[in-house]
Amino acid sequence: MATIGFIGLGNMGGPMAVNLLKAGHKVFGLDLSTEAKERLSAEGGVAVDSVAEAVASADVVVSMLPAGAHVLKVYCGEDGVLAHVRPGALLIDSSTIDVDSARQVAAAAVEAGMRMVDAPVSGGVAGAAGGTLTFMVGGPDDAYEAALPYLEIMGKTIVHAGGAGTGQAAKICNNMLLGISMIGVSEAFVLAERLGLDHQKLYDISSTASGQCWSLTSYCPVPGPVETSPANRDYQPGFAAAMMLKDLKLAQEAAHSSGASTPLGAEAAALYNMFCNAGEAGTDFSGIIRFLRGKQEA
Ligand code: NAD
Repeated sequence: MATIGFIGLGNMGGPMAVNLLKAGHKVFGLDLSTEAKERLSAEGGVAVDSVAEAVASADVVVSMLPAGAHVLKVYCGEDGVLAHVRPGALLIDSSTIDVDSARQVAAAAVEAGMRMVDAPVSGGVAGAAGGTLTFMVGGPDDAYEAALPYLEIMGKTIVHAGGAGTGQAAKICNNMLLGISMIGVSEAFVLAERLGLDHQKLYDISSTASGQCWSLTSYCPVPGPVETSPANRDYQPGFAAAMMLKDLKLAQEAAHSSGASTPLGAEAAALYNMFCNAGEAGTDFSGIIRFLRGKQEA
């Protein structure tokens, strides 16, 4: 069994660390929040107060932090992971961060003699608790192979996307597509309402025709056609609009730095920004249909 240093025990990291504990690994957990550390201790983990204590004896380091700046500081800062971890340790960053920061940290890790993968996830808090996350993994083959047994404890679907940073690239490309498609499906329902076409009728037709997509058939933004959609529970998340906005902004940063043309991604980011600024950051992202209806009325 391995010794694991886990940094970032929040909504996602907390349950992921518990799954590693349940699989028999020893987990040293670090977070800025005392409550988060207490939750890990209650499950048999060792709560620590510094990066040095978290990683000094670790075979594997896993991090689940808010954004690129946190990851850069935690790994490359003066008292960070790279300054304290044992040579040859395996580093897994599962935070959703910008591709450039992910590549910068991976390069510094390799330079310091470590193996590292970026391994962002989809599947949300329920997936973290149930060990059913999807991991999108970027990094060299040997690091991916070494990470696999740990990722398989925390997740169900593990995909090797390519070299360093491609896990993050996969995550933001997918979520940009999701944001755009949710707006597209929502606009179709709003137009249908204006034209006197029943929601269920549009669903029945489009779900078997060329408009079919996940945002329609698995996560329909109007109540009724898909029982499990957040639309049927007043748009409680699910996947909060603030999280979608974060990913759309990361996609736009990546588009600018790589020179890719993503006009619909830019428009989706602008619309989700307005939606969040209207006090809906905590609403499920499919609730954007209410905002689009309001725009027509304004
Ligand atoms: P969270 O805010 O609940 O957890 C982040 C944790 O990191 C917090 O507990 C915070 O105290 C801790 N932290 C911040 N800086 C730290 C530092 N320097 N040292 C130690 N701990 C530190 O966020 P979350 O929902 O768990 O999300 C974590 C990551 O997972 C984010 O990048 C997010 O985009 C991604 N993600 C979240 C979801 C979701 O549904 N919540 C889904 C997919 C991906």
